[in-house]
Formats: sequence, structure tokens, C-alpha cells
Amino acid sequence: MTDDAPLIGVLAIQGGFEAHERVLRSLGVRVREVRIPADLDGIDGLVLPGGESTAIMLGIEREGLAEPLRRLARRDGQRSAGESAPVGGVPVLGSCAGLILLDRDHLGIVDMLAKRNAFGRQVASFEADLEIEGVGGGPLRGVFIRAPWVAEHGPDVEVLASVDGHPVAVRQGRVLAVAFHTELGHDHRLHQLFLTDVGAAHRGSRARD
Ligand code: GLN
Repeated sequence: MTDDAPLIGVLAIQGGFEAHERVLRSLGVRVREVRIPADLDGIDGLVLPGGESTAIMLGIEREGLAEPLRRLARRDGQRSAGESAPVGGVPVLGSCAGLILLDRDHLGIVDMLAKRNAFGRQVASFEADLEIEGVGGGPLRGVFIRAPWVAEHGPDVEVLASVDGHPVAVRQGRVLAVAFHTELGHDHRLHQLFLTDVGAAHRGSRARD
């Protein structure tokens, strides 16, 4: 890992952030835990982990993180009044509770509505092999733990994978949201896909410097 390796922020309020950190480090990027707005300064990508979306959202609000997170992900990458550098367009990966946080009822970063615990009590947890658009090399094993699905989405949201006709992996611009966990196993292709976006954004911002 080098000092100019991309720096990835991992929201570390509650939930499974450490597993994401391990995967990211194994893929050669730098990692910073995000708890307060200042932790977002200079990051090249952001991971919103799984956990309990209600608890994480309360923490986001308590720390004043909601608006800075929206600004970071904003697609146009435009600067707000008083800001010297464009901060939008930072790639985001949200998994499970992280998908819920991205929806219209929470941070409003992705034009979608998530249904929480969508697979019901009987099948609270299961694993499935998923063919994901943009992830080559055969199906990816997804671990679903009291997982949501995408109940509704706008035209800018691309569905990358579904289970029983319900979207469980979506993309809007550089924001990827998946209903399942891949950080628990040894197949890191989803994080690699995210880091491909990060690499593109990172190179783009350097070219502007
Ligand atoms: N059921 C959780 C929620 O609604 C999400 C579960 C998870 O992140 N594994 O927030």
C-alpha cells in the first residue's frame, strides 16, 4: 500500500464496518473510519455498512453527517457556495442497512425506496448465488441477513441483480447499493467493482489538480 493509494471512508457508527475495512485493506487501499463530518475530508470513496439502519441513521443525525454525506455523493460534483473544491461524485458502496440509508426516506442519495426486512421472518437469513451486472467471472455468493429489497425506483437507477423479481443490487451513477453482504466471505469482486469507480474518480480529480 502506498501513500497515494485511494483513501476509503467506512461509516463506523454501528454495524459491520470492521469486515469492510478488512476487505478494503486486503485490496490495497487506505481506510479511515468515519464518525464525524471532518472524517470525510479528502476521502476518495465511502462504504456504508450493514447493521441496524435506525441506529445508524440516528447516529448520522446526531453527528450532523446527513448533509455532508449527501454533498459527498452528489452526482454533479458541483461546488457549493463557499467551497473551494468540487466534493460531489465520490463513489459510494452501501450494503444491507447501507442500502436502506441511501433511499428516499433516509439520505435520499439514490432515487429508490427500500423495503426493510423484506424477505420476511421465515427466511430472515439465506445465501444466494447472484449474477451481477458488471461483475464478471460467474455468480457471486450473497449473504442476506434480515435484508431489504428495492421496492420502487426511478429511471436513473439501474438494476444489477434481483431475487424473485425484487432488485437486490442497484447502481445510480457512482453509487452502488446491495441488499446483501459480500464482506463476510472471500470473494471480493463487489468491492473491486466499487474500487474501479473509485480509481476512475481518483484519477479524474488528480487530473483537475
Ligand atoms: N434489518 C436491518 C435494518 O433494517 C438491516 C440488516 C443488515 O444490515 N444486515 O436496518
